[in-house]
Amino acid sequence: VMDFDVNAVRAQFPILNQMVNGSPLVYLDSAATTQKPQSVIDAITDYYTGYNSNVHRGAHALADKATIAFEAVRQKVAAFINSPAPEQVLWTRGTTESINLVAHSWGDSHIGEGDVILVSELEHHANIVPWQILAQKKGAKVVPIPLTDAGDIDQQAFTALLTDKVKLLAVSHVSNALGSVNPVKAMVAQAKEKGITTLLDGAQAVAHFPIDVQALGCDFYVFSGHKLFGPTGIGVLWGQKELLASMPPYQGGGEMIETVSFEGTTFNGLPFKFEAGTPHIEGVIGFGAAIDFLATLNHEQVAAHEADLMAYIIEQAKACTGLTLIGQAAHQAGAFSFLLEGAHPADVGMLLDQQGIAVRTGHHCAQPLMSRFNIPGTVRASLSIYNTRDDIDRLFAGLEKAKQFLL
Ligand code: PMP
Repeated sequence: VMDFDVNAVRAQFPILNQMVNGSPLVYLDSAATTQKPQSVIDAITDYYTGYNSNVHRGAHALADKATIAFEAVRQKVAAFINSPAPEQVLWTRGTTESINLVAHSWGDSHIGEGDVILVSELEHHANIVPWQILAQKKGAKVVPIPLTDAGDIDQQAFTALLTDKVKLLAVSHVSNALGSVNPVKAMVAQAKEKGITTLLDGAQAVAHFPIDVQALGCDFYVFSGHKLFGPTGIGVLWGQKELLASMPPYQGGGEMIETVSFEGTTFNGLPFKFEAGTPHIEGVIGFGAAIDFLATLNHEQVAAHEADLMAYIIEQAKACTGLTLIGQAAHQAGAFSFLLEGAHPADVGMLLDQQGIAVRTGHHCAQPLMSRFNIPGTVRASLSIYNTRDDIDRLFAGLEKAKQFLL
């Protein structure tokens, strides 16, 4: 097997080749959004220059071309996550909308008074707040599974919380703030034994390892295109077919109907029942190019490259005086969070930015997780396929400079 050629990968991402505040850009914020390869940018331009049309109902060549391209991506995404059928892949605006769709459509008909929705303490707000809104409407409760000090979901506590009241388990596959990879397959299996419906938030997982929804055994799997080298505004709700088929529509409008009259309206089948209105066509087409781009890479090589970078980060972090790692989960992917003693995360982020190093600071939309560790926020560096050991060296050299300035 040939070694992973990170420079060949980097060459496909034009945005990386620029100066920021006088230094070459080091982009360590891929957990917020990944950069886009030229092929994704080109696919969107080709669509607008060559075959822009509305999909599904056109009576002309451009509309046919757009419809075929649009539906081909659904098949690509289905194959990418090993969905048994393409109609189980529903387009949404992203992870957030996918979860809200489930909370409204499934939640309205399945959650009642006294029911429990089990999440974990490390969830992104997108996997907390929609359930709180639902719970408030229904008189149900959102209960968090506690974490260990290392930032792993406490599995003993999880087992103890699996009571008959629990109707839904909604947890993330990978934590956006800590990078912890959660043992979701085992957790789903345990929940399924009790007849509990399961949703996995894959927003941070999809870019780092192959996803097989059938092997995971979950009922719903959700993610965003923009964290997977695709455009913003496009995401996926994957669901078990019978479950999706039994759920009421989320929004009403065009596309999602079969017949409409003032006596009554009948709804379209999957996936269109959940896709009211003109969809994000350019987003879907760009997303398809992102999946094609991923198919040109070797998964084992990518995983080995990212594991090498993560190990290199942890090694350097341990040698960096005054640096405290937040969370040291058994298995970590993509992101790592830390604090510099005596320095506010926002100041660290600003001083890194002045050196062209892009990280994220703050609570990372995971305030309960920050509370768990008694901190207001962290500095988060997150990795992707285009990062190098040189980026990590720049980060730690940047931190040394920041320390001189701050301490
Ligand atoms: N869940 C997790 C774990 C995330 O990292 C994110 C994005 N930061 C989201 C949900 C929300 O994704 P989006 O903003 O693309 O809807």
